[in-house]
Amino acid sequence: MRNLLAIFALGLLVAASAEARPGGGQHFKSTHSAPSSTSTPHVMPPSVRTLSHPMAVSSTHATDTQSGGGGCGVGGGLLFVLILIILVVIILASRRGRDRAKVESDTAVAEKALADLVARDPSFSKQAFAERTRATMQKVNDAWIRGDMSPVRRLISDGVYVRFQTQLALLRQGGLRNAMADWKPTAQEILAADTDASWDTVHVKVAAEARDADVAANLPEAEALKQAKSASLESYEEVWSFVRRRGQKTKAGVPALEGNCPNCGAPLELGEVVKCKQCGALANSGEHDWVLAEITQPEEWSPMQAGAEIDGLAGLRVRDANISRQELEDRASVIFWKWIDAIVTGDRKRLERFCLTAGQPGVEKLALTQVAVGSAEIEFVKPGDDQLDHAGVEIRWSASVGGKATAFVSELLIARRQDALSKRGMSSLDCPNCGAPAKETDAVQCSYCGEKFAGGKKEWSLESISLTEQVDV
Ligand SMILES: [Zn+2]
Ligand SMILES: [Zn+2]
Repeated sequence: MRNLLAIFALGLLVAASAEARPGGGQHFKSTHSAPSSTSTPHVMPPSVRTLSHPMAVSSTHATDTQSGGGGCGVGGGLLFVLILIILVVIILASRRGRDRAKVESDTAVAEKALADLVARDPSFSKQAFAERTRATMQKVNDAWIRGDMSPVRRLISDGVYVRFQTQLALLRQGGLRNAMADWKPTAQEILAADTDASWDTVHVKVAAEARDADVAANLPEAEALKQAKSASLESYEEVWSFVRRRGQKTKAGVPALEGNCPNCGAPLELGEVVKCKQCGALANSGEHDWVLAEITQPEEWSPMQAGAEIDGLAGLRVRDANISRQELEDRASVIFWKWIDAIVTGDRKRLERFCLTAGQPGVEKLALTQVAVGSAEIEFVKPGDDQLDHAGVEIRWSASVGGKATAFVSELLIARRQDALSKRGMSSLDCPNCGAPAKETDAVQCSYCGEKFAGGKKEWSLESISLTEQVDV
């Protein structure tokens, strides 16, 4: 009962915002509502494994709302309905109250984590970090508007890169592009920081405002801008999480923003190449400097998820010292977006590089637009007796299906051979054997050394993916 009320309350609370931003986060519809247990989801490719997923409601949020409980023992009729209404009101009120409290207690946690970071990296400055976040927002937005994320790949993880590139490609496929006017970043506020064996992470609440419109791709620039300018000015907020290898220190300036290698300082080639010709460093791996590794919609963000220990991860770390939650989630994000690309275009070849078994899972074309991800969270890692390590990642996302915003939860199962080692941090697209840049992100084979990418030999590869539609209560 208590959980049902919580679900109902959350369903009311979490409304999709309608604002403009790169990556289409304005279209994100939260999946914090009850699982579709009574009706058959109307979008359900037969080739995709379907789970009823009883755990679809985020456990952290569900337990958070316990303060609204109590007094559920009275049964029957009007009195019951009245109690129900009162409880919902209490839950709503307590949740609002708690949200304010949470921000305050988070501040204390963030301050402690930041103090810990500063103790290890005395040159770390909150102000400088806010400024580099602002500069990163600017570059990401410029690239988004130009319809090509290549120039900013060095600043963002491959998961974030593939997300943006896929969204742009899907817009183009629909004959559209996003035109924007009066874009202005309005806030960069450090919400929290955390650290683990592998990475330091800084979570920043970013806010910006803009006018935007999806316009015909071939519309002349002046006309596109005119349409954007006539749209209303909207603001948005997101949580941007930056990661850096634990042990690294603040550098002078921001080399990757300035076009230089974050390891040796040599100029990086223009375009999407992230490997330094001088020293071989991968600029967007997070091994040398901060990279944007995750964008979470405010509805889905919780400081708790960042520090939680993952089932089985410590065991795997004994064999692979560099394995991390962040790397697994980023890889899962890359694979998820390639899967979206494949199901929207109906072109399964785009997924093949990322699959454990050739031709699996199958793909059936689906008419989705405005795909947006709310969050990606790893749930477990475990060794199998098939010489593979397996990991499960839950992705909360939404899309427009036949003009209706629809929320989904997908469970990705990924696997990798047990003798493989993590070496590339947040950079997972280039050849895992020789390091050569992949000609296309979905190339199945390295054009330099001939390494075949699929099959889980060196890279985490897709075993299966579920698609569960969520419905509002
Ligand atoms: Zn270098
Ligand atoms: Zn190679």
